[in-house]
Amino acid sequence: MTFSKDVFQDKRALVTGATQGIGAAIANRLAALGAHVTAVGLDHGDGSLDPGVQVRTADVSRGQDIDTLFQDIGELDIVVNCAGIIRRGAEHDPAVFEQVLAVNLTGTMRVCTAARERLKPRSGCIVNIASMLSFFGGSLVPAYSASKGGVAQLTKSLALAYAVDGIRVNAVAPGWIATPLTQALQDDPTRSGPILSRTPLGRWGTPKDVAEAVAFLCTPAAAFMTGVILPVDGGYLVA
Ligand code: NAD
Repeated sequence: MTFSKDVFQDKRALVTGATQGIGAAIANRLAALGAHVTAVGLDHGDGSLDPGVQVRTADVSRGQDIDTLFQDIGELDIVVNCAGIIRRGAEHDPAVFEQVLAVNLTGTMRVCTAARERLKPRSGCIVNIASMLSFFGGSLVPAYSASKGGVAQLTKSLALAYAVDGIRVNAVAPGWIATPLTQALQDDPTRSGPILSRTPLGRWGTPKDVAEAVAFLCTPAAAFMTGVILPVDGGYLVA
């Protein structure tokens, strides 16, 4: 146990992109630490959410879905924006480019905007999910990299804008994490070999690795941290 198991007791959390993969691990971790968690996804997911987590379906790229979602959401302490897609190889098509931006970047902005008034009374916090591609280019993923670069910059700008309300806004930038999103890379030795050889800690990350860093940013231990983009990458960025 890395945190006191009641560190988020009576806290209310909303996690998007949380019905599988990294988001589900974050939702489960916050719940295990005492939070009341609502997990949002396109569907009910793959069964990896713990029974105590409430599930809602919404598409973060649709303003109407966000309006409907927030109609029944009261005050919040924690918002995690984890909804994200990648369309490797197809993102040079402007229509696909727009779709990826709409989910990863504009979707994050929509949820932050809707959540601000819910977070303000509790001096809550936001954690956005960035990426190594917030820092690097990717020839097959121009939309994903643009969106995640945008998420990093958005995080800094909202940290400045929301500080007046006592709301902290940070991001984590996961390295290569074993989830359905990266299954094709994990299965291809010509792709996974170079990834592992450049990762100093020598393994794929796990959703739990990311969840622990998100939890930290939401605890009082991070009370003086805002506008940070925290890599969780086994050292990939500095190698
Ligand atoms: P995943 O594909 O396993 O899960 C994605 C989740 O997002 C699902 O719950 C899905 O329902 C939801 N989602 C997708 N589109 C949505 C939409 N329009 N509205 C609402 N929910 C939507 O992905 P993952 O690997 O767990 O990635 C989660 C986040 O972490 C993404 O933002 C991704 O960019 C980021 N990330 C992942 C890695 C990695 O290596 N897996 C690395 C860096 C960043």
